Amino acid sequence: MAKILVYNNDLNRMETYYRGESEAMPYITGRTLTVREFRGSSKSPTLWTSKRTMQAWNSQRYIWGGPIPVGYAFKRPWEGGHSYQSQHYAGVAFDVAQTFSNSQRTALRNSAQNSGVWSYVEPVSLTPTWVHFDKRALSSACSSRWLSSS
Ligand SMILES: [Zn+2]
Repeated sequence: MAKILVYNNDLNRMETYYRGESEAMPYITGRTLTVREFRGSSKSPTLWTSKRTMQAWNSQRYIWGGPIPVGYAFKRPWEGGHSYQSQHYAGVAFDVAQTFSNSQRTALRNSAQNSGVWSYVEPVSLTPTWVHFDKRALSSACSSRWLSSS
């Protein structure tokens, strides 16, 4: 049983869930992302993410139209990671498609880039053997500029 903290972006508050490893993550449609998949190799008893990240997964999974194998999502800082690891520490990033063929991975990377669902999709040059996408928070400088121009 994992304790899962979810930042609810709509209500601006944290929510707490308790889920078994084979159960779906909160806000996930069906069982397309289980607790076990989200935690990957992390041994943490407590996991965290955001509602927006889970909804982004639902949208990407729907657009892709088939299973997306998840190698890693959540990590704690001492559990390793790659160059954009901080987004994994925040629980808003996914490393997926490790078991896909190169052509399947390219198709999924293109889908993730074109979907508009993610804040960031790592280029193939940095992660050739998996696809990294995340729902990082946009900087306050960016959002204030957006607001002042509208
Ligand atoms: Zn990653």
